[in-house]
Amino acid sequence: MLIVQKFGGSSVADNERVLRVAKRITDTYRQGNKVVAVLSAQGDTTDDLYEKAYSVNPNASKRELAMLLSTGEQQSVALMSMAIHGLGYPAVSLTGIQAGIYSSSAHENARIRRIEPGRIQTELDKNNIVLIAGFQGVNRYGDITTLGRGASDTTAAAIAAVLGADLCEIYTDVEGVYTADPRVVKNARKIGELSFDEMLELASLGAKVLATRSVEMAKKYHVKLVVRSSFTDAPGTEIKEECKVENTFISGLAVDKDVASISLIGLRDRPGIAFRIFSLLAKERISVDIILQSIGRDNTKDISFTVAKSDLKQALAALETAKNAIGFTDITHNAGIAKLSVVGAGMASNPGVASKMFEALSDAGINIMMISTSEIKISVLIDAHDADRAANAVHDRFFMENEFEFAEKF
Ligand code: ASP
Ligand code: MG
Repeated sequence: MLIVQKFGGSSVADNERVLRVAKRITDTYRQGNKVVAVLSAQGDTTDDLYEKAYSVNPNASKRELAMLLSTGEQQSVALMSMAIHGLGYPAVSLTGIQAGIYSSSAHENARIRRIEPGRIQTELDKNNIVLIAGFQGVNRYGDITTLGRGASDTTAAAIAAVLGADLCEIYTDVEGVYTADPRVVKNARKIGELSFDEMLELASLGAKVLATRSVEMAKKYHVKLVVRSSFTDAPGTEIKEECKVENTFISGLAVDKDVASISLIGLRDRPGIAFRIFSLLAKERISVDIILQSIGRDNTKDISFTVAKSDLKQALAALETAKNAIGFTDITHNAGIAKLSVVGAGMASNPGVASKMFEALSDAGINIMMISTSEIKISVLIDAHDADRAANAVHDRFFMENEFEFAEKF
């Protein structure tokens, strides 16, 4: 088999862990597999490098940031290669450029455009274990780029796709994907298997185990993903096309605290107003999430929507500037909110999921500010102070009170 393994920063944080991972990689190799391992920077290295950069210059250029940040992953692969040599196995480390990972031109948050796997293939043919620096690529100007926080996952999924790997294993410090963040929800448990769509929703709704783009990539190229612990031999969570959903409504829930809402009051109730607002925000490259429009009264209406907290200031400024062009009487905002979502492929065919969620919130005395739904998720906006309590209440309502309904899946 050809197996791509990805090890996160915590899995390679110190010498002891590097050696433990070296052992895991060589065990896989020894069993007759070809192995490509993608590594993240050790521990908090990326955060430390950011801090270092900004203390030298708070406006550090993105080109130089990518240059600096990419060294974290480069250290990891070189060290891992040395550790593997020490165990008596052949290995070679490659940077993103050496591995043929070409990205868009943005220096930070660049996207993988294509991979030329020639060098990787040559090394595999020589029976080498190939270690690839995650999170980095090269743009068409020959500059090093980085692919966004957490993007070593994306590197791994992309490499697995291009090599046609049999399996892409994502090793991390937890045993898989959980029904909720176990640090917040005490009854959270590991999910055995998930569909790509469910994982995509969970990842983009704030579950941090996998980078969203890595899941998109795996889905698009049919890469079988497994998330598992680098510290234990527990089987982890499988993410694949289809899984048994008949007996499950909900797969998991996610909380996102990086949300702020904006409300425009007293808009004229006529065609083209929503278009003006959201095209303005699109031009500013601000993504909008939940949108709520009130029923028009006295020829006016209100529109509320959410943006990432980091975009709030820019969105407010742009809207204020366009106040006359859009035509509203008032603008308000709230940065003290959180989005709680439940996700499950089974909810489309099972009525009552929404009411169960709202009942749990109501019993806990938690007010809902906005609601949004898709075929496989329901999101509510609530006060940020209520977020953890709400997550526990909703989680336990779905997962603790109807054990039999979920038995199949877990
Ligand atoms: N080292 C990078 C980060 O901390 C990439 C990764 O770990 O996936 O975001
Ligand atoms: Mg990560």
